[in-house]
Amino acid sequence: MNVETKSLPLVGHFVGGRAVPEAPRTQPVYDPALGRPVARVALASAAEVGAVAEIAHAAYRDWAATPPAKRAQVMFRFKALLERDADRICAAISREHGKTLDDARGELGRGIEVVEFACGAGQLLKGEHSRDVGPGIDAWSELRPLGVVAGITPFNFPAMVPMWMFPMALMCGNAFILKPSERDPSASLILAELLAEAGLPDGAFNVVQGGREAVDALIAHPLVKAVSFVGSTPIAEAIYRAGTAQGKRVQALGGAKNHAVVMPDADLDAAVPAMIGAAYGSAGERCMAISVAVCVGDAAADALIARLKPAMAAIKVGACGQPGVDMGPVITAESKARIEGYLAEAAADGAELAVDGRGVSVEGHPEGFFVGPCLIDKVKPGMSVYADEIFGPVLCVVRVETLAEAIGLINAHEFGNGTCIFTRDGEAARDFTDRVEVGMVGVNVPLPVPVAYHSFGGWKRSLFGDLHVYGPDAVRFYTRKKAVTQRWPASGIAEKTQFAFPSNAR
Ligand code: NAD
Repeated sequence: MNVETKSLPLVGHFVGGRAVPEAPRTQPVYDPALGRPVARVALASAAEVGAVAEIAHAAYRDWAATPPAKRAQVMFRFKALLERDADRICAAISREHGKTLDDARGELGRGIEVVEFACGAGQLLKGEHSRDVGPGIDAWSELRPLGVVAGITPFNFPAMVPMWMFPMALMCGNAFILKPSERDPSASLILAELLAEAGLPDGAFNVVQGGREAVDALIAHPLVKAVSFVGSTPIAEAIYRAGTAQGKRVQALGGAKNHAVVMPDADLDAAVPAMIGAAYGSAGERCMAISVAVCVGDAAADALIARLKPAMAAIKVGACGQPGVDMGPVITAESKARIEGYLAEAAADGAELAVDGRGVSVEGHPEGFFVGPCLIDKVKPGMSVYADEIFGPVLCVVRVETLAEAIGLINAHEFGNGTCIFTRDGEAARDFTDRVEVGMVGVNVPLPVPVAYHSFGGWKRSLFGDLHVYGPDAVRFYTRKKAVTQRWPASGIAEKTQFAFPSNAR
């Protein structure tokens, strides 16, 4: 590390209720709009992760024994503190991620909705009771916490994705270790501070910063009983395999290529602004971003492109602090180079660059990682720009002849996170929602991210594991069942030994 980086503020770990002020190893954190480091983030070693797991485990017992109603009081206070400090959290998100403040507020708002859902989780933790399952015998099933659970999160939602996980994990009585993205780690520290201020016992929520070494150590640690992961598909798959091989419960959400079908009868007055927001909001760095428009018929494609072009020309690209900005930079210089590489490949493969966002310049930010909105027409399934997740402001147009062809195309893709259809035809919409092999489906809704009381998750290689995140699935993921069968024989009744297996048959 050079001297200049050493003097930058440290984004460290948060362990046992306190921020850790030092770190032997760090790496730079960039402001992507400036294209230069603004902080340095700690990189946890395996030994540091082990120490955190012990601290979390020590906190777990008391927290698990805390009544759900008392846990909920912490969550209620946490929600109020999130609202009090929203500006501070959103400023940290925007500085390190590059998204606009408005977009950061949207992200935080969706995270707060999960906290609100978690406040009522006592209702979902009740278990089941049966009286008289045998003579004088009652039985019940309880939902018990797992112990220490970990969350490993991506850069694109540094507040919301952690909040998909820890509010419900904590409400279920677990201790939590968060390993946020090393690209934008500051929001996680603010969340940790606010949980402590809300009265969460020390050690019940911890943040370990770092990269692969920290992740590997979490997956391998015997005290970590379950892992929630959100990130790219290759890492999701590797984490799912490594974690489950060690007997851990794992949910690993991966990448996406979300198709929007545009039917010939679509209301373009509504579909075009929806598509613009869903493709280019957050510079396309959303796992639910629309990255492919599948137009049914050439007329639908031509009409869509004719409307998209002027709307795209009006998109203001810039740094989050600049007035009127709609779209910020992408996360790293490598990401910008990768996106631009896909555009060059698409052109070489015979697709048409209807709008080329390369070479955009932003006043006062010559080194920023900016890519303007891009639109590529006449994309075919064999092209890399179609097959791969690009994770940038790039919308591909694929032309098909029928809805059946559109559904077949979507079903053949390796990812199955989100999709939507723009149509005025209820029969087409019903057929689409029935047959499309995707986990989250919208009808005239471009970003069908489920609300907090429905769980979120994709199909195919967009999710490894059985259970989705937040909502009712979170209770299933973060608890294990214990079934108790209890008999209190009436006094004075002599017991007889039974060698036959006990049943109600006799
Ligand atoms: P990423 O996979 O690079 O990183 C995610 C996390 O894994 C980070 O905490 C990172 O430190 C860690 N990590 C990275 N490389 C690792 C390795 N080799 N071994 C162990 N851990 C490693 O993802 P990203 O670039 O931060 O985020 C973007 C990706 O996340 C996109 O693919 C996007 O689709 C996906 N995503 C998916 C969802 C969803 O719900 N399915 C939501 C948000 C983001």
